[in-house]
Amino acid sequence: MAELTNNGEIDLLLGRMKSAAAPMRGILQELHARYAPVTEGKVADYIPELAKADPNWFGISIVTADGQVFEAGDCLQSFTIQSVSKPFIYGLALEDLGLEPVLARVGVEPTGEAFNSIVLDEVSNRPFNPMVNAGAIATSDLIAGKDFPERVTRMLDMFGRYCGRKVHIDNSVFMSERLTGHRNRAIAHLMLNFGIVSPRLDEALELYFQQCSVLVTAHDLAMMAATLANGGVHPVTGERAIPQQYVKYLLSIMHSCGMYDYAGEWAFRVGIPAKSGVGGGILAVVPGQLGIGIFSPPLDAKGNSVRGVRVCKELSEKFGLHCFESGFTGRSIRDQFTVQRSGRQG
Ligand code: GLN
Repeated sequence: MAELTNNGEIDLLLGRMKSAAAPMRGILQELHARYAPVTEGKVADYIPELAKADPNWFGISIVTADGQVFEAGDCLQSFTIQSVSKPFIYGLALEDLGLEPVLARVGVEPTGEAFNSIVLDEVSNRPFNPMVNAGAIATSDLIAGKDFPERVTRMLDMFGRYCGRKVHIDNSVFMSERLTGHRNRAIAHLMLNFGIVSPRLDEALELYFQQCSVLVTAHDLAMMAATLANGGVHPVTGERAIPQQYVKYLLSIMHSCGMYDYAGEWAFRVGIPAKSGVGGGILAVVPGQLGIGIFSPPLDAKGNSVRGVRVCKELSEKFGLHCFESGFTGRSIRDQFTVQRSGRQG
């Protein structure tokens, strides 16, 4: 851009970019319009703060691995990240301890059970994976820091690197999570009994409740996903959020366990590593290509955003995004971006 001194040239370039971006933006706007009237699902209400969410909020954001942004709807509406935080905390634990010590504490097997089920591996006593609450709490226990404030700061800084901005905690959600989190406390104590978490489990629980209460937007989720799609480097700031060698482990665990007890069918039908949260967020990663962030609070019986699941299914089918897709004959999503980057009309 710097070498373009002629205003006419700049106008021409911007004009081309605008018209060429239209196909992808148009596709997202059309998807948004078609799924906005869906009224199925129920907003999470286990704490009063989440029950206040407007069921009509609906945002779809796509960020490519090279930082182009395509959005439709409420992409700047804040909500709490909830379980979408889990793979990222897992990444921080991997960075802090390395793979084998983390695997000694938390497995990588899907459970087929609800995210808050009170179940540990009978032989190893480990939680099955870091996406269920047991595994997530055990993972939070592994986050390094000289004291609790430093551990919280490291957690927030980590989310900040993925989002490309400073993130904050919703204090009332955090207080409610902490006040009502008896089941999570029970799970933590069971793990203490088996020596899976350290005696500072109160800190692990506090950290877990705080990570669930981080405020994000659909735009942020797409940026976080695009950072993973880009090998761990934020596509706009250029900052590394996680060492490259750990990205594949986050994506693997999202692929097999990211969508609660719908994970198997999701991997089968959609085939894109993803994670959802009870706040209504879904984050999905197409490695090397793009990140998807969707926000729509009404959830299905398994806890996944109803509109989010449908939009991802359609994007996967339309653009052949399933990770085991071969011989796709439709128009690839890469073509849509190539159109924009080359400045040619689609
Ligand atoms: N914070 C909630 C819990 O720990 C829900 C997390 C989620 O999104 N499933 O139970």
